[in-house]
Amino acid sequence: MIQINPYDIELLKNINENRAWEIFPVFLEHNQDFCACRSCILDVMAITLNTLPPCYHSEEHNLSAARNKVTDEEIYRKMKEAYKIVKSRPRHD
Ligand SMILES: [Zn+2]
Repeated sequence: MIQINPYDIELLKNINENRAWEIFPVFLEHNQDFCACRSCILDVMAITLNTLPPCYHSEEHNLSAARNKVTDEEIYRKMKEAYKIVKSRPRHD
């Protein structure tokens, strides 16, 4: 049998994705009118993550290097822009 994935891909992380999930509760706190259903949360995060440059690291997180390229404020701003799109065209029932 062919082993398709012989590498330990679990060690490969997109730091900017982790950062976006860490910032998301702050976004929720400041946008109380946001529909926090599963569909809206995933859509906002998908749009946000698609507009952020990836920042992959294979071992220890180099958070300061990631922050030098994309600030927390920029991630928050992209989340707000994603929210406007989702709010105008929600996919929830
Ligand atoms: Zn919703």
